[in-house]
Amino acid sequence: MTTFAATVLTLFPELFPGPLGASLVGRGLADGLWSLEARNIRDSTTDRHRTVDDTPSGGGAGMVLRADVLAAAIDAASPAGDGRPRLLMSPRGVPMTQALARELATGPGVIIVAGRFEGVDERVIEARGLREVSIGDYVLSGGDIAAMVVLDAVVRLLPGVLGNAASIESESFADGLLEYPHYTRPQVFEGRPIPDVLTSGDHGKIAAWRRGEAERLTAERRPDLLAAAHAPPRR
Ligand code: SAH
Repeated sequence: MTTFAATVLTLFPELFPGPLGASLVGRGLADGLWSLEARNIRDSTTDRHRTVDDTPSGGGAGMVLRADVLAAAIDAASPAGDGRPRLLMSPRGVPMTQALARELATGPGVIIVAGRFEGVDERVIEARGLREVSIGDYVLSGGDIAAMVVLDAVVRLLPGVLGNAASIESESFADGLLEYPHYTRPQVFEGRPIPDVLTSGDHGKIAAWRRGEAERLTAERRPDLLAAAHAPPRR
């Protein structure tokens, strides 16, 4: 079995593995089911002051991550390209989705650039074929947490990491629906019983109830997902 190899290019390598070192994802890292290398972009500077950014051409606020420095960092991380997709965390990117997590999890690994400041010089995005990915319509102060979000979503799908593959097949987004509600003991909590059907032992009825609840919740909260679930399968 080959190990899923993740490389993060960042100005704050000390943030990693951070939350990715905990729980099942962290256990998978310790057990070698995936690997993580956090490389400091600053190590690819050549000047005495180790400068990674400069003022925006055309003026305006903030600083821009230099194309030459970031390109050197990418090249050092994957000499001559190594077949791993290269992502740039960016609010301008395609939205992170479960489908993208699944696609990445079937590959050899990923190189993720975590941006800072106002952003990254456009020319390195083009020259190194960076695929911009966003974790949502809001602006973070840096790409490190976004990179962790992407890695967590991908790594939990790798064989052996979660241990219980069934939970992946029925969870939210697996079939274009949000997940049905969960219950466990006690039988009555503050006057609220567990729905009768779930303790009936009738597996057909339980499956139908869960499907109905999943559709109800999705219609209520995310009608956009329901429209996609009822569309003919994409080819
Ligand atoms: N000026 C930029 C925002 C820069 S935020 C703009 O208006 O688009 C600084 C860095 O944080 C970005 O380079 C990116 O790497 C990261 N970041 C911020 N919001 C993000 C989001 N929603 N998804 C992914 N990365 C994000």
